[in-house]
Amino acid sequence: MASIKKVFAYEIIDSRGFPTIEARLWLDDDREVVTSIPAGTSVGKYEALELRDADTQRFRGMGVLRAVNIINELIAPKLVGVSPTKQSEVDHWLAKADGSKKKEKLGANSILAVSQLFVKAAALSESIPLHAYVNKLYKRLFKNEIKVEKIPTPIFNIINGGKHANNNLEFQEFQILPSSSFSFSKAYQIGVEVFHELKEVLAYRNANISVGEEGGFSPSLSSNVDAIEVLVEALNRKNLRPGVDIFVGLDIAASHFYKNDRYVIKEINHPMSKEEFIQYLVDLTRKYAFLTLEDPLDQDDFDGWKKLLGKISNNIYLVGDDLLATNKERFLKAIKEKACTTILVKPNQIGTITETLEVIDIARKNNINYVVSHRSGETNDSFIADFAVGVQADFVKFGAPSRGERVAKYNRLWQIEREELKQTK
Ligand code: PEP
Ligand code: MG
Repeated sequence: MASIKKVFAYEIIDSRGFPTIEARLWLDDDREVVTSIPAGTSVGKYEALELRDADTQRFRGMGVLRAVNIINELIAPKLVGVSPTKQSEVDHWLAKADGSKKKEKLGANSILAVSQLFVKAAALSESIPLHAYVNKLYKRLFKNEIKVEKIPTPIFNIINGGKHANNNLEFQEFQILPSSSFSFSKAYQIGVEVFHELKEVLAYRNANISVGEEGGFSPSLSSNVDAIEVLVEALNRKNLRPGVDIFVGLDIAASHFYKNDRYVIKEINHPMSKEEFIQYLVDLTRKYAFLTLEDPLDQDDFDGWKKLLGKISNNIYLVGDDLLATNKERFLKAIKEKACTTILVKPNQIGTITETLEVIDIARKNNINYVVSHRSGETNDSFIADFAVGVQADFVKFGAPSRGERVAKYNRLWQIEREELKQTK
């Protein structure tokens, strides 16, 4: 079994034009792996901390040299000679060395870079595909087997609003979900074709066809409902049957327009109380038959989530992102309080792969669905695609089927289907 010869980290620029960490690991036989770290724009209050330099003379304070130095000077020397299969030992050591609840000392970005390197290096050293190693790692850590038989269903975010665009839409993501009965290649094709159809619909309506942070269009329309309508129009023009071939979903990211105990959206002429907003969501969901509703209410409002869940169809995936922050304690609380049915899993919200797998294990044991997700700030690393296959996520959310950093992940899923799962429905 190979051991680690060297680890080295440095800055690269992410899809938003901000620095992030890239790190390399060399095994003692000189084979190497590389990984890089994503970053959120609509960051939840309960996420682990991403260490930034706050030096306004460099990259507007967004540099990550402190985090890079933590890897190179504090962590890397201790990893020389270690086996890359020591995933949980190293992850626990890093979490303990940090010692804070939100990984404020070492930074979740530095820690995750090392954690991801371990997964990639172990897969390389065992000469198995990355997703197969993730699957094996889960089995080893949690004594539980996940059969790998499908590529997770993609959620394409094709209209961007909220913090991901400078338009007037308060809701952050307007998504389409091809039926999970389709193979990935068919689902990807549908996503791409609807994306282009939507571009035409927007163009003839004289709406802007520039794109937002995740590659979806970012038109200024008169309301969130209008954005849903243009999306439905694009689906109709493609003769896709809503509720059969294709579904619509939303990431409302409501915490970002929740102010002074009120939900404030322009299409309603007054700030809404929690009860009013829940009713608004129930009506909207009834009208458009959404399949997923992510972060429909504020990240602290467990009670509101529970009420909403009681009022919508139990076929809807009520997804906790900011609510749960891939955090075990918050997740267990949400399960106890029956606040949601689905967890959005983002490794950098918690900072290690072991803790991310632990959250997935909790989801599996409690019949909670899980979506594996990218961040709005991305790189061309497709680690998350393999991770999602390895844990057999119900869905993946990697943005629009456009822009290099998004399609790097979708294309990797396509490759896995083509070369390794041989699924051709
Ligand atoms: C999200 O909110 O689900 C998301 C992917 O955006 P961000 O990375 O900005 O949190
Ligand atoms: Mg979200």
